[in-house]
Amino acid sequence: MRRGILFILSSPSGAGKSTLARRLMAWDKNISFSISATTRSPRVGELNGREYFFHSKVKFEEMISKGEMLEHASVFGNLYGSPREPVDIAINEGKDVIFDIDWQGGQQLRNSGLSEDAVSIFILPPSISELENRLKNRGKDSETVIESRMKKSLDEISHWAEYDYCLVNDDIDNTEKKLQYIIEAERLKRSRSPFLIDLVRKLGREFEQEI
Ligand code: ADP
Ligand code: 5GP
Repeated sequence: MRRGILFILSSPSGAGKSTLARRLMAWDKNISFSISATTRSPRVGELNGREYFFHSKVKFEEMISKGEMLEHASVFGNLYGSPREPVDIAINEGKDVIFDIDWQGGQQLRNSGLSEDAVSIFILPPSISELENRLKNRGKDSETVIESRMKKSLDEISHWAEYDYCLVNDDIDNTEKKLQYIIEAERLKRSRSPFLIDLVRKLGREFEQEI
């Protein structure tokens, strides 16, 4: 059995990564989502343990000091991090996991012991005005929050070239399709197909030769 793959999605806020992650999980029930911990307050409609684990700063820092976070970063003035245990369990069971994390988290995962299991994808908006429209139409953040996210978007975008793949999210159906192709192809990589060794050896034995 192969190990699960960590699919890292990053983008400036509002480019569409949460929407895409939700669609991918509906497409393949074997893909799970790494529910991050955060010190930010829940938005209307968000549930503890569904979108995020909402923790106090004290609890969050305790988790870091106990080594319970795979990665963590300060984003827009709050702490965000990926709890380690559910990810370890999923990948050892051969289940793929999607991360919706910023460039700092992406860098930490790519430089961690899990780098071989990680595939990173950056999502770009088609334009800055469209990015702003999406943040406004989402209707979840105040004007001030939207303004601060827009100011940070260029910083996030400047890390696009660190990622294995970079997609422009113009048409949502199209982008979802492309993500599905990436997932299927990454699953088929030779390095992720441990059963091939036994098969090739068996083929060799049928020729009474070692391969
Ligand atoms: P992020 O998770 O990157 O902050 P979201 O997934 O919350 O972004 O998307 C922001 C808003 O943009 C949502 O209202 C979402 O429905 C919308 N959206 C996402 N992708 C597209 C797209 N390709 N075209 C138009 N609207 C989109
Ligand atoms: P939001 O507050 O809009 O849900 O998320 C804000 C930003 O924090 C997004 O860019 C999101 O990808 C990032 N983020 C969410 N969870 C994590 C995490 O666990 N680690 C890191 N590094 N970033 C995260």
